[in-house]
Amino acid sequence: MGRREHSFLYIRELLLVIALMLFLGGCMSFTASAGTIKGTKALFITAGADAEAEAKEAEEKAKAEALAKAEADKKAQEEAAAAARLTLPDGRTLTPLGSFRITGYCPCYQCSEGHGSVTAIGTRARSGRTVAVDPRVIPYGTHLLINGHEYVAEDCGGAVKRNHIDVYFDSHREAANILYYTEVYIIR
Ligand SMILES: [Zn+2]
Repeated sequence: MGRREHSFLYIRELLLVIALMLFLGGCMSFTASAGTIKGTKALFITAGADAEAEAKEAEEKAKAEALAKAEADKKAQEEAAAAARLTLPDGRTLTPLGSFRITGYCPCYQCSEGHGSVTAIGTRARSGRTVAVDPRVIPYGTHLLINGHEYVAEDCGGAVKRNHIDVYFDSHREAANILYYTEVYIIR
């Protein structure tokens, strides 16, 4: 065996070893990459699942809060309705009509334009009972609570429009002194 041949053989073996090392190295590198990819993917899946759970939790919390708010609103509404539905000791209910301008009138010509004490519905006006109203706002026959007293809408008047009620008095002197604003309730 000559010297050249020997060195050629040596080089060939060396190349073989290098090739083997490269091959093994490649395999290991691939395995490592695969592992990394798999790990990354797993990490992403876990993060995604966490975000989903958090979103679901937030949604359920928002739903519960909305439900609680709706219940609170309903309760407040019921309380307001109960407060608005005042009742008299005899069990009749009071429905607020709003604020009215209250004045007085009597059977004199100046107050009643010649109708005297005969009301719009044909009854005789009575002090402490009869009031004149705008019948488009308050129908005749309606019982009203005004300033703590019960009256009946029995009359009308040319100047009695909308939120204005004229209270009947026997004397002009009494009637002329009346002017105030108050909350009026329908009694049913
Ligand atoms: Zn008068």
